[in-house]
Amino acid sequence: MSALDTLADRMFPDVTHTPEEYEALYPARQLKEGARVTRIAPSPTGYLHLGVLYAATINYLTAKSTGGVFYFRLEDTDSKREVDGGAEDILAGLSHYGLTPDEGYGGPGKETGNYGPHRQSDRAEIYHTYVKDLVRKGLAYPCFCTAEQLNAVREEQESRKERTGYYGAAAVCRRLSPEEALQKIEAGLHYVVRLRSPGDESRRVKFDDMVKGTIEMPENDQDLVLLKTDGIPTYHFAHAIDDHLMRTTHVIRGDEWISSVPIHLQLFQVLGFKPPKYAHISPIMKEENGNKRKLSKRKDPEAAVRYFTEEGYPIQSVMEYLLTIASSGFEDWRKCNPAADRFSFPFNLKKMSVSGALFDLDKLNDVSKNVVSAMDADAVTRYILEWAAQYNQEFHAKLAADPVFAQGIFSIDRGGSKPRKDIGKWSDAPDYAAYFYQRPDPTGLEYPESLHAADIKEILSSYPPVYDPSQDRQQWFDAIKALCPALGFCPEVKEYKKNPDGYKGHAGDVSTVLRIAVTGRRNTPDLCSIMRLLGKEEILARLQAAASVL
Ligand code: GLU
Repeated sequence: MSALDTLADRMFPDVTHTPEEYEALYPARQLKEGARVTRIAPSPTGYLHLGVLYAATINYLTAKSTGGVFYFRLEDTDSKREVDGGAEDILAGLSHYGLTPDEGYGGPGKETGNYGPHRQSDRAEIYHTYVKDLVRKGLAYPCFCTAEQLNAVREEQESRKERTGYYGAAAVCRRLSPEEALQKIEAGLHYVVRLRSPGDESRRVKFDDMVKGTIEMPENDQDLVLLKTDGIPTYHFAHAIDDHLMRTTHVIRGDEWISSVPIHLQLFQVLGFKPPKYAHISPIMKEENGNKRKLSKRKDPEAAVRYFTEEGYPIQSVMEYLLTIASSGFEDWRKCNPAADRFSFPFNLKKMSVSGALFDLDKLNDVSKNVVSAMDADAVTRYILEWAAQYNQEFHAKLAADPVFAQGIFSIDRGGSKPRKDIGKWSDAPDYAAYFYQRPDPTGLEYPESLHAADIKEILSSYPPVYDPSQDRQQWFDAIKALCPALGFCPEVKEYKKNPDGYKGHAGDVSTVLRIAVTGRRNTPDLCSIMRLLGKEEILARLQAAASVL
């Protein structure tokens, strides 16, 4: 037995498996040519962020559009930053948005697929097996430097204006013989395990990033930590082991990791693994006072995905919008394929924005108004009821008291070739529907300034006798037109325009007065339908109330 074997056995007495066994246990996947295996690998450090949903969407699309696999890995190696229920919140959020992974960690005790476990805290034995093998081969070594010693080294490097870190002369433990290392372990000293980096700072490493293009950086020469004192792997090491054994073909992740790629490529090389393809996506940006900045978890409520749920943005809207910002070709594709499954969009990583997608709530609202305008009344009513049950109980109680009436409200002007676009999110609904539940205050009504109070009063009092709820839209407007001559208004707008001084106004002004008296608003969906839904008695009461204060 060599001294390195003895050292490796002493460091990992419990490891009974070999890398070869794991290679055989997790063989190359049998997928069709070109199929991509992607993953989302969040840390359970809090609620689901928009950035994670965005990255998951891109990973999901990449896998789905190639007949591949999208899986979920939980990177819970940093227990200090872990939040209770964080993983469940992320998983529930992804499923809510239709991004259910094909495989992976699915919550406590839940695992799917043949490449798990997918929770890093369940993979200690795998990591240790590989590190033991590296130690045996002299490619990794125990490092006994204390935090104080490392600090002192760093300060010295700084004072000499040198690059800081554990490399070259500073990497003292790399020069210990296996026997010396063994002695320190026997003496009970704590240690981390470091990579014996084969890199050289003066050499360059070049790789093709699928989003950012060809990138060149100096090689890594730092003896980075693979396992911490408690035996838990660092992100870098776990990434190499996991993405290899889970047979990931494309690592698509935030571009904060781009500077780590030289380390990762080196790890793949030392471990004898084929590296995956990398795609580093730019963060979601926000424009503020003409400047672009990263969406901030601290400053921007929309950075948390729950914001969209609370505001009542339909799932479809958020997803459509994320695809719009992920790929400049999506909007045009959507115009040509209005009913197609969004995940059939031929997504191309290479066409993603390199500088960062701009997130704009106004644009999301527009996208969402389109989405909502295409829904039928049944769906809209159901979604609004669901949203209100959770976020606006008072409104929910009103709707639930008469579901048929509620559905009537959301049926108005729905369907047809030019649907109105009043509602972008369910939280718009209470205001949208307010006048159906509450009479407008007659003293606060704002009529067109061109009309005199006496004329308005006359309109309000002469209309009730001609109102008949059985009228269709045409008959309803014809009845208004028929009233016009006696009121001094012109029945036809065209005629009126030829001779505006000859009239007090036109039929449209008369209906505006009625609209304001009934709803308190100047702009509403179809007034004939509103009146029919509110019922004759209520309409007459509102008209009378409005007339009585003039
Ligand atoms: N746990 C890492 C993160 O949340 C994952 C990065 C990756 O996708 O590799 O940033």
